[in-house]
Amino acid sequence: MTKSSELFKRAQRSIPGGVNSPVRAFDSVGGEPIYMVKGEGSSMWDADGKKYIDFCSSWGPLILGHCHEATVKAVQAAALEGLSFGTCNPREIEIAELIKELVPSIDMVRCVNSGTEATMTALRLARGFTGRNKILKFDGCYHGHADYLLVAAGSGLLTAGTSSSAGVSEKAVSEMIVVPYNDLDAVKDAFEKHGDEIAAIIVEPVAGNMGLIEPVDGFIEGLRSVTEGNGSLLILDEVITGFRLGATTFGNLCGVTPDLTCLGKIIGGGMPIGALGGRREVMEFLAPLGPVYQAGTLSGNPVALAAGVEMLKALRDDNPYPHMTSLATKIEVAINENAKEIGGSYFCQRTGGLFTIFFTDQKEITNLDDVKKCDTAQFARYFKHMVDNGIYISPSQFELGFVSAAHSEQDINTFITTALEFLNEI
Ligand code: PLP
Repeated sequence: MTKSSELFKRAQRSIPGGVNSPVRAFDSVGGEPIYMVKGEGSSMWDADGKKYIDFCSSWGPLILGHCHEATVKAVQAAALEGLSFGTCNPREIEIAELIKELVPSIDMVRCVNSGTEATMTALRLARGFTGRNKILKFDGCYHGHADYLLVAAGSGLLTAGTSSSAGVSEKAVSEMIVVPYNDLDAVKDAFEKHGDEIAAIIVEPVAGNMGLIEPVDGFIEGLRSVTEGNGSLLILDEVITGFRLGATTFGNLCGVTPDLTCLGKIIGGGMPIGALGGRREVMEFLAPLGPVYQAGTLSGNPVALAAGVEMLKALRDDNPYPHMTSLATKIEVAINENAKEIGGSYFCQRTGGLFTIFFTDQKEITNLDDVKKCDTAQFARYFKHMVDNGIYISPSQFELGFVSAAHSEQDINTFITTALEFLNEI
């Protein structure tokens, strides 16, 4: 029995399902979780000493690879000064100023402890600011696990969402409107019916929780003009895309100014963090200045912020983005040319260093309905082949591949060769 297997057996006795976040249980790909014990650059090692090239990158935060030297040193120095004070600390100002410098739409920043807290706070703030209750979200976009965000599209023509988790009442999601991603007409219809009740639209500007899906031309711009015309707020959930495609947000890169932006993952350099930023008038509605309550004992934790500040400075100063884009493009081209040559039922969608290989005959994936038509059993076989051969990828068809600044040409060639071994056999 492997050490990972032993650990999983032991974990199941004390932790529900043996995991602290469900996707880690490998439910959608089968097999047992792998216990990782060490990372360095683009690689990590499991409890049995097996090495993997890591294309999950802790789901995004490790954009500079495992154990980025300056980040680790900053964390060590901060830890020696104090793990937490429960008071104000100077790094809170430092990261807020850095985020403001890099994201022009952000006048003020509130630090929290996770992406979930950032989106939850953004929606409460939008409701408090507008005095309205309804929120429009897109089917397949994930914004953390607050009750009312665990909502799926209703059946047929209904736009009212329905609870997607036990423990979340239909009442809790009754103010949620859910429409297909990339469908601006559906958004306009919803605003025609409920415009004066809608506090905000929340959207992943590039969707990353149903595989990689780019917004179609004019989609994000359209959301901006619909919300502006209705006195509603536009919230860009950039927990994945923030600082991922450039040393700024996707909103800034595509020229759309949201009212609020949710951040997480990369801004903590691998430490637990989240943040909410936006225009001053809205942000000043937060307590203690305004009537919308929000708080956190460990918010603005000095050790997490030390990592985040170092990470953001490195991204700003070193510009690793062309390197990551070029490496991920190699993967995209190799997979898609191979599919064309042998008529394979798969293709790769990519933006910057983010990519997904979809197992399908479709030529394009633009929303959740398209993704649901993919062959998830084939993905599971692909996952097993990759992991068996030392390439760690996210364990679901509905997730992303993350290329980091630490990946080398050699890593990418190994990924391509290993993937083609599988793809040429199916
Ligand atoms: N928003 C997006 C776009 C995410 O991808 C995630 C997590 O994957 C979240 C919010 C929630 O973040 P966290 O898991 O830190 O609570």
